[in-house]
Amino acid sequence: MKFATKAIHAGQHPDPTTGAVMTPIYQTSTYWQKSPGEHQGYEYSRGTNPTRKALEDCLASLENAQFGLAFSSGMAATDTVLRLLRPGDEVITGNDLYGGSYRIFTKVFEHYGITFHFVDVTKPEHVASLISKKTKLIWVETPTNPTMQIVDIAAIAAVAKAADVLYVVDNTFASPYLQNPIDLGADIVMHSVTKYIAGHSDVVMGALVTNSEELYKQLFFYYNACGGTPGPQDSFLALRGIKTLHLRMKAHCENGRQVATFLRQHPKIEKVYWPGFEDHPNHDVAKKQMRDFGGMISIVLKNTSLQDTFKIASSFKIFSLAESLGGVESLINHPATMTHGSIPKEVREKVGVVDNLIRISVGVEDIDDLLADLKQALV
Ligand SMILES: *Cc1c(COP(=O)(O)O)cnc(C)c1O
Repeated sequence: MKFATKAIHAGQHPDPTTGAVMTPIYQTSTYWQKSPGEHQGYEYSRGTNPTRKALEDCLASLENAQFGLAFSSGMAATDTVLRLLRPGDEVITGNDLYGGSYRIFTKVFEHYGITFHFVDVTKPEHVASLISKKTKLIWVETPTNPTMQIVDIAAIAAVAKAADVLYVVDNTFASPYLQNPIDLGADIVMHSVTKYIAGHSDVVMGALVTNSEELYKQLFFYYNACGGTPGPQDSFLALRGIKTLHLRMKAHCENGRQVATFLRQHPKIEKVYWPGFEDHPNHDVAKKQMRDFGGMISIVLKNTSLQDTFKIASSFKIFSLAESLGGVESLINHPATMTHGSIPKEVREKVGVVDNLIRISVGVEDIDDLLADLKQALV
């Protein structure tokens, strides 16, 4: 099956008891057993639930993989991967990361004796040079958040494979519509389902996808043991959102292209980060591994103080000033004080997350209205 068909059908079958075409919300914590141990595949909803199972199978299918696990948040999914590590293990990861990933790495798992190296993962040879016997995991995000660098997924996969290191790609910004890291050699794909996948800013959820049964079993153990599981209502909403993922992504990409082009020639703007520009430093990698360039854009305002940046950020009429991304509605965000507030100033500024940087999640509204809003806010 092709992507659009999978988005609508994968993992879903008419309900065997009623014929309901849409997967029912199985709002149950437990399941009847005929005699002890004799059940129909479901025992207790922390481990498995039919609505969630449909979502997990659909997500796995969209990433061309066999196994999916849905979580109560993207961070719960990340937490579960990190539980595979042991004291003394080391992790190599990017220096431009989602703030919450940076926080769980440094403020939670460093306390358990795990060391994280934050490096430029757009340079595979640099990553290779840092690998030691202690390296157990490489974790990358691409496009990076918020400076939209592109990491060569296949090149890092070769480094990970040569060193026998687990390789995880956070695919939240691209969504499975734009790129499929498992096809390029990743062992696990992580998603914040909250963003493009669910797509309507109405649920918080996460996911892990893998093609390795062995890894799936290990991840499922921690999943069930620790309990970061989502409810059936949220699973239903995510499944419903996915049915239009391909349509929404096309519109996000088209609007993104127009917004990026508009912003680049605007006199108030010093810099536009968007991988679709031919002079973007990793444009060739983006072209090679992505189907299109997405709707995430960051801008640096020219000679603008923090106060004036706040003023501009608060003057939009259609774009909402809010954290998060990937919903049908356009959002703007001030990473330095919002999504990336948990990263120390000197650390974030080193990779360009300055006080006058604004991140834009371009929605699927009419492009004329979006451009008019940007024009009036940037006067
Ligand atoms: C939002 C986000 C996360 C965390 O996911 P939640 O669903 O908010 O827990 C992780 N990585 C990236 C790139 C994100 O944008």
